[in-house]
Amino acid sequence: MQVLVRTNIFATVLIFIILSVIDCAAKSNKKEVSWDVLARKDMVYNQIKGRGIKDDRLVNAMLEVERHKFVPESLEKLAYGDYPLPIGEDQTISQPYVVALMTDELQLKATDRVLEIGTGSGYQAAILSLMVKDVFTIEIIASLADSAARRLASLGYRNVHVRHGDGFLGWPEEAPFDAIIITCAPSELPEPLVLQLAEGGRLILPLGDDFQMLTLYRKMAGALEKREIIPVRFVPMKGLIEEQ
Ligand code: SAH
Repeated sequence: MQVLVRTNIFATVLIFIILSVIDCAAKSNKKEVSWDVLARKDMVYNQIKGRGIKDDRLVNAMLEVERHKFVPESLEKLAYGDYPLPIGEDQTISQPYVVALMTDELQLKATDRVLEIGTGSGYQAAILSLMVKDVFTIEIIASLADSAARRLASLGYRNVHVRHGDGFLGWPEEAPFDAIIITCAPSELPEPLVLQLAEGGRLILPLGDDFQMLTLYRKMAGALEKREIIPVRFVPMKGLIEEQ
């Protein structure tokens, strides 16, 4: 009898200890998952996968890059919403889906070298950096180029190279590029960029003035194949293109 009671007490204490440990682990797990991880999962599920983006490498990059660190602090909590946001100097960071769609259309390989025109916050460059070998990105506004370069370095994106200048001219020293992405809108395709695109390479841009068409080009046997994707709204390309 006494043995039975002792065994019962022992079992109860043991169960109590096990439950406490599980509860403690659950609580500490809860603490570790911060709001932005959940917000990114939600963004990827609803806005990216939900709209048909399937590439695992792209989906993982969108889950990994901390978009809230690329917007002004006061807008941090809005960073995972389904819209573009201001980043200062009258410029914007694109809507997450548009970033994903443009990246997806480039069909990037891990060995690719990519040129981006319009660094802005550096977010698009960070997504690209996780998918390719090297990213070269040019920003015409000095303060944005500086802050994006510092942000990307501090977050550890070591294969992104930021240059302050007019992207119209491209980056001839590093050409040819396997892919080129223009994230500001020119009224026509800048010729120097076409020359810096590798054979078989892809170039995507919002083409037009007030209203633009997201347009994909592919260089095949020296000529450009063209495909229109969807209407979009981007900030205009500045600099030399305006003098054309
Ligand atoms: N890709 C950015 C958003 C780009 S917003 C991001 O992920 O945050 C468009 C950017 O293009 C702006 O920062 C604007 O200053 C820049 N831009 C406009 N004309 C340019 C030019 N000729 N060369 C390089 N950058 C340019």
